[in-house]
Amino acid sequence: MSEAAFLARVRAFAEGSVARAAPGWSLGGAPDPVLWQEAAAHGLTGITTPQENGGLGLSFNALVDACEALAAVDFGFAMALINTQNVGARLCLSATDALRDAYLPRILSGEISACTALTEPGTGTDFAAISTRAAETEDGWRITGEKTWIVNGRHAGLAVVFAQCGTVGDAGSIGGFLVDLAQPGARRSALTSGFAQGSMGTGSFTLTDAQAQPLLPPGTAFKSILTEINAARTYVAAMCNAMLGAAIAEAADYGAERQSFGKPLNQQAAWRQPLGSAQTDLAASQALTSRAVALIATGQDAQLTAAQAKIAATEAAQRHIPAMLHAMGAAGLLPHYPFTRHLAASQMAGFTDGATSILRDRVARLTRAGADNPKR
Ligand SMILES: Cc1cc2nc3c(=O)[nH]c(=O)nc-3n(C[C@H](O)[C@H](O)[C@H](O)COP(=O)(O)OP(=O)(O)OC[C@H]3O[C@@H](n4cnc5c(N)ncnc54)[C@H](O)[C@@H]3O)c2cc1C
Repeated sequence: MSEAAFLARVRAFAEGSVARAAPGWSLGGAPDPVLWQEAAAHGLTGITTPQENGGLGLSFNALVDACEALAAVDFGFAMALINTQNVGARLCLSATDALRDAYLPRILSGEISACTALTEPGTGTDFAAISTRAAETEDGWRITGEKTWIVNGRHAGLAVVFAQCGTVGDAGSIGGFLVDLAQPGARRSALTSGFAQGSMGTGSFTLTDAQAQPLLPPGTAFKSILTEINAARTYVAAMCNAMLGAAIAEAADYGAERQSFGKPLNQQAAWRQPLGSAQTDLAASQALTSRAVALIATGQDAQLTAAQAKIAATEAAQRHIPAMLHAMGAAGLLPHYPFTRHLAASQMAGFTDGATSILRDRVARLTRAGADNPKR
């Protein structure tokens, strides 16, 4: 399938089936498994998985475009699908043929969702401090520990779990393992908060002497995460841009119809100004995101630009989505509009794949020490 044909299908799916279901997710509901299978049928669980392995074999640009189309309607559902697709793509890169063949068809068909689990109740930002343990026994690797705040954690059939194989605190001895979450040694649970997260499937799981298959050996796991996270930061930035773009468009449409003091809202200069301000920050954020996409797509170092893009996009969304809701008046609170979902999602985006405060520090360090510093 060409990228253009894929994106046309994804946009129609997002604006049709996903848009019809999403208001229920604002009120605490979760996606129906049939919708997940419809997404899988469009290739959304195998976007970058090579064609010879049953995926679409499309580019990072196509993945980002699909993220934008879905997140304009619902960030959580987009994250759930992309996190699943990422595990499928990872299987093709790092798993044995037997392991890949055991799980990849189930991911591609939409039978199971999948997740990547680093965060634990005791540690998030300080990844090297994870205490989930992996040990090699006579009958293979076993893992014990708890993971939390995991996209798809409440229902995933398969997880890439990062666990300590040596001394806690030693990043070099963390390994990545494939864990079947349907086994008796695994127990999944939903994680709920005031922000409805049903479409993201956010959850926790505990592993008690659970069977695990090595995927990323100690010494490579940490490095692999640092590389992949630049891509994740970039598509999260694109999703935040998409949410803000959708919020501006909804407010603009409403302002053209809604009458106040004898004329449409969009004829009032004071009403238009927040839209102009949002549009300006969105354009700046989109430019940074495009730069990060181009760097990643061409295999260049995107560490600085991906961090900057994610900061700019999450902060623009966090600043302006409430203003767009305000421009709608009370109607903006209703679930058939995306504002409350996007408002919550923009806060959540500030934590996923690198919290904003940590990214700001990363940018400071990279620019102070790096070639971008004009004093050097
Ligand atoms: C919706 C959602 C989905 C998520 N999905 C996943 C997932 O799929 N897989 C996964 O593994 N994790 C996931 N996470 C977890 C996410 O990666 C963590 O929330 C993030 O790493 C921050 O960790 P923490 O929440 O434990 O905060 P902490 O590490 O406890 O930090 C608390 C606050 O202090 C700040 N802080 C910490 N250290 C410093 C420092 N040295 N200097 C300055 N500020 C600092 C942080 O930025 C944060 O603002 C998800 C989180 C959310 C909210």
